[in-house]
Amino acid sequence: MFIINYLEKLQNFILDTLFPIHCLFCQKYGDWICEECAKKISILPIQVCPYCEKAISPAGRICPSCKDKFLGKNEIGPLDALIVSAKYEKSGISRLVHCFKYNFIPDLGTPLAKIISEAIIFHNLPLPDFIIPIPLHSRRLRWRGFNQSEILAKNLSEILTPGFPLSVISNFLIRKKYTTAQMKIKNYQERQKNVKNIFGLNKDFQNQHSNHSSDNSKIRVALQDKTVLLIDDISTTGSTLFEAGRILKSAGAKKVFGAVIARQEISLKK
Ligand SMILES: [Zn+2]
Ligand SMILES: [Zn+2]
Repeated sequence: MFIINYLEKLQNFILDTLFPIHCLFCQKYGDWICEECAKKISILPIQVCPYCEKAISPAGRICPSCKDKFLGKNEIGPLDALIVSAKYEKSGISRLVHCFKYNFIPDLGTPLAKIISEAIIFHNLPLPDFIIPIPLHSRRLRWRGFNQSEILAKNLSEILTPGFPLSVISNFLIRKKYTTAQMKIKNYQERQKNVKNIFGLNKDFQNQHSNHSSDNSKIRVALQDKTVLLIDDISTTGSTLFEAGRILKSAGAKKVFGAVIARQEISLKK
């Protein structure tokens, strides 16, 4: 153990000497984003209903008219609320998220999770029983080497309740289908189709914890009457979060909230 710690420190020292960390915005040495530049990113003070994106609602809760629409179809909304932490800006948030995901800098998960936590606290979203990150397909996970939503979730759990981290459960949901990235699809209906049934309850979770049935009963028991917070990095139409929320609700979760760093507005053909 001592040797592993020592080697890790040595490796960090060498990397730090060869590739010193600079603020991505002002180049100041020390952090990926320095304190001054972090202060320039402000939390969105107003939240809207996650479905119609029009009605202003406290903590991004579903608005009465969208609730009625779901009730009319005999359904319940898959997300009870969605916190969008900051504005999606090319110069700020989008750059940080891009470096996090595509320049493979997992350390950016800490400042990004801090932004989400500030928004959750500002809007008084109730604390959940669990935090569940949106899973990646195993193929994409192998390619990236980490799940960005899981890193955000783990950092968030420590920031929200210091010393008593909230449980982060990464093995309830699995991504069954390898799909085209939502960013590449420019049509609203196609996006919804693309994510339909992409998630499922993890059968291996059941097998790890019991030799009997594989009916996911352990997950169902754990979710019963619980409040879940789903974490994703960026959302656009919300389809991915809605689909994950639908599975969690059908497995017994009482409330499903979502939180993302930002929501990207792109003009989609509806
Ligand atoms: Zn800076
Ligand atoms: Zn609405």
